[in-house]
Amino acid sequence: ATHFVVEGLKATIEEKEILKGINLEIKGGEIHAIMGPNGTGKSTLASALMGHPKFEVTDGKVTLNGEDVLEMAVDERARAGLFLAMQYPSEIAGVTNSDFLRSAINARRGEGNEISLIKFIRQMEGQMKVLEMNPEFAHRYLNEGFSGGEKKRNEILQMLLLDPKIVVLDEIDSGLDIDALRIVANGVNSMRSEDRGFLIITHYQRLLNYIKPDFVHVMMQGRIVKSGGPELAERLEAEGYDWVKEELGIVD
Ligand code: ADP
Ligand code: MG
Ligand code: MG
Repeated sequence: ATHFVVEGLKATIEEKEILKGINLEIKGGEIHAIMGPNGTGKSTLASALMGHPKFEVTDGKVTLNGEDVLEMAVDERARAGLFLAMQYPSEIAGVTNSDFLRSAINARRGEGNEISLIKFIRQMEGQMKVLEMNPEFAHRYLNEGFSGGEKKRNEILQMLLLDPKIVVLDEIDSGLDIDALRIVANGVNSMRSEDRGFLIITHYQRLLNYIKPDFVHVMMQGRIVKSGGPELAERLEAEGYDWVKEELGIVD
C-alpha cells in the first residue's frame, strides 16, 4: 500500500527560508488538499517534493513506501511514482506532446519494459477522449501555444498515462472555466484508487466541490497551521483566512 510521509521539511530559496517544517502523511486512497493565501509556500512545497533545483532542502525527511525521496534525482522520483502537475507548465520546443509522453511513460516503466507504440497510441487516444482533447494535441510541440486550460488538461493527460502512486496537483484549477474544471476533475476522480494518494494544492475551494478531499490543511508562512475535513475548506471559502490567523495568533 502507498505511504508517503513528509517530516519537518524545510526549504530555502536564495538563502530565504520558505518551508519551515512541513509535516504530512498521505496513504493510498486518500485525497489531501492544501489551501492557503498567496506566497505562503504551497508551490515551493510541490517543487521541493519533486526535487526542483531552485530550492534547497535544508532539513527534514520525505519517504515513499519507506524509500528516501530526498536522496533521489528528479527522474528517480518520477520512476518511484511521484507525479507533479505544475502551476506553470513549461514549453518544450521541438518535442511533440506524444514523444514527450511516450518517453515519460518509458522512463517510469524502466528499461526492458517499454510500452509498445501501438499500445501507447491506443492508451493516449483513449485518455485524450476522456479529457475531451482535440486529437491534434498529440502532435503539437509540448505546451507551445497551448492556452492555460489546454496546458492543464495536458498535465492531467500525463497523470492518467503515468499511473503514479502520489499525485501532486499545484493549482490545477487556475485559469479553467467551469467545463474544463469538470473535465479535469473527472480525470482525477477516475484515477482514485486504494494504492494512489493525492495532494491537491489550491487557492480556491471551488475545485474541492468536484474533487472531494478527505483531509484539508491550511498552510501559512511556510507551515501547516491547521488540519481538518472538507468542512474546513467550506469555512475558508465563506470566511477567508483571517479567522485562522486570529485563532492561532498569526501576525503578518
Ligand atoms: P504560493 O504557491 O503559496 O503562492 P510560493 O511557494 O510560490 O507560494 O512562494 C513562497 C515564497 O517564496 C514567496 O515569498 C515567493 O516570493 C518566494 N519565491 C518563490 N519563488 C521564488 C524565486 N524563484 N525566487 C525568489 N523567491 C521566490
Ligand atoms: Mg501563488
Ligand atoms: Mg503557488
